[in-house]
Amino acid sequence: MLETDYFFFFYIIIHKYQHPAMNKKIDIIKGLFVACRFSEARYIVRSLAGKLRIGLAEQSVLCALSQAVCLTPPGQGFPPAVIDAGKGMSAESRRAWIEEKSLILKQTYCEMPNYDVIIPVLLKEGIDQLPKHCKLTPGIPLRPMLAHPTKGVGEVMKKFDEAAFTCEYKYDGERAQIHILESGEVRVFSRNQEDNTSKYPDIISRVPKVKKDSVVSCVLDTEAVAWDREKKQIQPFQVLTTRKRKDVDASEIKVQVCVYAFDLLYLNGESLVRQPLCRRRELLRESFTEVEGEFVFARAIDSHDTETIAEFLEQSVRDSCEGLMVKTLEKDATYEIAKRSHNWLKLKKDYLDGVGDTMDLCVIGAYLGKGKRTGTYGGFLLACYDEENEEFQSVCKIGTGFKDEDLEQHYTFLKVKLSPRAYYRVDQSAEPDVWLDAVQVWEVKCADLSLSPVYKAAMGLVDAEKGISLRFPRFLRIRDDKKPEDATTGAQIADLYKKQQQIQNQGEKGDPEDYY
Ligand code: ATP
Repeated sequence: MLETDYFFFFYIIIHKYQHPAMNKKIDIIKGLFVACRFSEARYIVRSLAGKLRIGLAEQSVLCALSQAVCLTPPGQGFPPAVIDAGKGMSAESRRAWIEEKSLILKQTYCEMPNYDVIIPVLLKEGIDQLPKHCKLTPGIPLRPMLAHPTKGVGEVMKKFDEAAFTCEYKYDGERAQIHILESGEVRVFSRNQEDNTSKYPDIISRVPKVKKDSVVSCVLDTEAVAWDREKKQIQPFQVLTTRKRKDVDASEIKVQVCVYAFDLLYLNGESLVRQPLCRRRELLRESFTEVEGEFVFARAIDSHDTETIAEFLEQSVRDSCEGLMVKTLEKDATYEIAKRSHNWLKLKKDYLDGVGDTMDLCVIGAYLGKGKRTGTYGGFLLACYDEENEEFQSVCKIGTGFKDEDLEQHYTFLKVKLSPRAYYRVDQSAEPDVWLDAVQVWEVKCADLSLSPVYKAAMGLVDAEKGISLRFPRFLRIRDDKKPEDATTGAQIADLYKKQQQIQNQGEKGDPEDYY
């Protein structure tokens, strides 16, 4: 976009939103713009529009912060006497020293993801003292541990080899991090650390019943799943999405949920994230009581037998689950906050016949509908998110999997999200009729992945000039619990593509266990 476009965009923003309370802000922004040189205006507009896209560069922010406090220790007054505390060190030992310190900051940030708390401590106490002062705290949501996809029981057995592991049902609902505070207050947070407390008054009210008296404070990791009380069975994820999102009145709840607890991350003043899962699970089971249809421990078996696991996988699907989560129990079994860890593998029934996993892709453009679809969008351009370059890369056009009401819903939602040609990596030949703001993530299934001269996903990772695209993509559902930057990454798509190639190379004679 040209600079003039940015000014035009800014002009629209200020005139659209102008009202007395905004005038002060507008004056400040105007002042900033007047003082801009070169392309500075671009960065200001991007940050005002929330599109600077530095969200995922969190690791760089943490590295920069630790480097700053290592080299120029805080608390020295001004001007500081020591500006470069690493002076005189060899380049290697300097790097190792800064890395060691930044690990302290990164670990602390995982448990307490809040700069407002961390930075004052960093300035007052120094980096070494951080873990003492900033700990996992009930009431402050932490980023969840995530899992790696696997293609079959065979792959699980190979990956975990001799390690002790457990297989749990992978419930298809919404992640619910339940915090019990020392004050007795209970709060529920989503996968994205949003406060869902007012969405789940029913969960809050059942906590006293399921928690044992020994529990003063804790953080539980659970999945809230729609539950049919009459038939006593799990309902599909789609039913859960019909539930009101905020300020729910307990007496008006139509969609009941059952909470399936699978982890305990904090108990009575102590963080458990560095304890192995077997210990966390033991404490979880000791500290809570099951109540059918309300609060239940995730169903699990600790078996190493391929047949038994395959049977359990089948059973999970018959019981309306997505498949299994396979988790290490003893060695390498800590709770890895904010990581898609190899200590948790997901084994979905879908993987057995598809690409390995569904993908969560961001809608960045739309094509006007024709024929039956006139008046709505008939197809959409989807993109993955490339963490390295902080950009959205086109991955496919999608036009199947939509019910009529889906198309209507998408049109109503997206038609007001039109965007000027944004910072997307897209080939001219795939340009949509309208560009959209990257605001919504869709879960998509496809037949396979192929190299493409047109689509830009994972460009450079598998082929220097070609990207990867999805063949026969189908829309499954909207992923409200994922932000655009949580979309499947280019690196993940490259991984799936490579895995698919390996399997194809094994041909028909591949180990049949890998498919099961
Ligand atoms: P997906 O797209 O497969 O739903 P995701 O990207 O949101 O996954 P994953 O790491 O792939 O996250 O899968 C983990 C999700 O599965 C968790 O976020 C949680 O909501 C859900 N889940 C259901 N049952 C379990 C379980 N027993 N243990 C851990 N997570 C579970």
